[in-house]
Amino acid sequence: MSFLVKNYNRRKISFKKGKGSYLYSTNGKKYLDFVQGIAVNSLGHSNPYLIKAINKQVKKVWHVSNSFIIPEGEKLAKRLTNKTFADYVMFQNSGAEATEAAIKAARRYFYSIGKPQKNRILCIKNSFHGRTIAAIFASGSKKMTEGFYPKVDGFDHFEFGDHKSLKKSITKKTAAIMIETIMGEGGIKVIPDWCLRDLRKLCNKKKILLILDEVQCGIGRSGKFFAYEHANVKPDIVPIAKGIGGGFPIGAVLMTKKVASGMTPGTHGSTFGGNPLAMSVGNAVLDVIFKKGFLKKVQQISKYFHSELEKLRIKHPHIIKEIRGLGLLIGVQLFSDQTNFIKRLMDKKLLTIRASENVIRLLPPLTVNKKEIDLAIKIINEVCEE
Ligand SMILES: *Cc1c(COP(=O)(O)O)cnc(C)c1O
Repeated sequence: MSFLVKNYNRRKISFKKGKGSYLYSTNGKKYLDFVQGIAVNSLGHSNPYLIKAINKQVKKVWHVSNSFIIPEGEKLAKRLTNKTFADYVMFQNSGAEATEAAIKAARRYFYSIGKPQKNRILCIKNSFHGRTIAAIFASGSKKMTEGFYPKVDGFDHFEFGDHKSLKKSITKKTAAIMIETIMGEGGIKVIPDWCLRDLRKLCNKKKILLILDEVQCGIGRSGKFFAYEHANVKPDIVPIAKGIGGGFPIGAVLMTKKVASGMTPGTHGSTFGGNPLAMSVGNAVLDVIFKKGFLKKVQQISKYFHSELEKLRIKHPHIIKEIRGLGLLIGVQLFSDQTNFIKRLMDKKLLTIRASENVIRLLPPLTVNKKEIDLAIKIINEVCEE
């Protein structure tokens, strides 16, 4: 008997420990974990460097209020801004909080320049920005919003790839366009580089803000620190979460100086967001990801993974429809429902997770090696051959 609310359809398995790319179940089996808490454990399980960092901080101070200066957070913000488009950072605890804070920052900016009527956010229909009451209405998904009305106003939608409707949907009231640089839950759909560049131009022309949700695709997952770097564009606001904490809950919103000017004292806050314990882990994650050559290695290993998967697609053209994604954010799209395939992979000790459009998501840690990828390929091939 479980006393947990049944808002998850949980697989009947639990784990007693993890190490790197592997998880060990309570019934003594070893699994190759290509879920990694849904792109959260960017450096794998029980990373020794992260263990050292958190243990060091645990003995000093865990939590102080944001009404005091938190040096560990100052340091993490400085490093994030040094490496990106951003001038300022606001820390949160999760992805949904980060996307909500991004929406708040966009609205507040227009309010602060005397244009409070510019407050609507334009999003892709059936995107994913989290599960809070505003974020589900931002997603425009019927399934996610069912039973949670009244509708939270202030969001407009266009269909993925429908540029005409996108342009038509921008009105005098639009404050920002918010999209995932790579749609994760939606089926690992990469927004093409030229599209991102056109979107940037469009936002400049209409004098609206570009919010790129990098909660899932950011922090090295795509092979670059942020996925938008592939297209060489600069967004105005970027919510992040998942990978930045390496398993510790951290969210954040990165923004330009212009946008940040609206966020004056009292406009937003978070009791837990940016506490010293979280910030030390975040800094440790960056120590590793910012190390010279780390992202190059992610690019090389992911290139290998994509090419091996492509070979499987050619070998099984009636099962695998398409290999999607960028870096180590990978989707294997099947022709039919993927539920049973995922179960069979799990029977053979490979953990994966679903996404929309019959997609199986493969999210190895950024530290994954060739041997582990070869094992995954072998298992996927076996299930294809069944
Ligand atoms: C996971 C995710 C979120 C929500 O993050 P939570 O930490 O679950 O609130 C938001 N946006 C994107 C793109 C995500 O993948």
